[in-house]
Amino acid sequence: MESKHQMHCTNCGKEMSKEAEICTSCGVRQGKMIHYCYNCGNEIQPNQELCLECGVNPRKIKRQSVGKSLGNTGTDSVNVALAAILGFFIPGLPSLLWYNQKTKGGVMIVGAILVTIILPLLGLVVVIVGAVDAYQLGQRVNNGETLDEWTFFWSK
Ligand SMILES: [Zn+2]
Ligand SMILES: [Zn+2]
Repeated sequence: MESKHQMHCTNCGKEMSKEAEICTSCGVRQGKMIHYCYNCGNEIQPNQELCLECGVNPRKIKRQSVGKSLGNTGTDSVNVALAAILGFFIPGLPSLLWYNQKTKGGVMIVGAILVTIILPLLGLVVVIVGAVDAYQLGQRVNNGETLDEWTFFWSK
């Protein structure tokens, strides 16, 4: 069930860790030599741009480090500028959306942001309730009613 974390060496086709940049079986940096599909391990002919087995482009390895070393700035890599802009407004969200990591930290930051937005709103509600309460109770006092300590405008 760990197949999600496994890839095939593009040089020798052996299974290897998704995070590894260099194959531990043949020692070749991933993406340099494309003899096998990184996704399914199917053999790839020179200049072949579509794996006939699984349909991925064997020359566009979805591995951030390799993408960088290949100068690949396609959609597979993180759009750093966009992440920075989004992170400015909602810290932690980019890491949730793109990096697929730091999930707990990201959730914590997003949670903290929500709290800082929600708490003032709650404060505003309290202020409004307080104003209505003062107004209503003031009218009741004017009508000769005596209020006990815990009378609010909603209590009879
Ligand atoms: Zn290899
Ligand atoms: Zn394939």
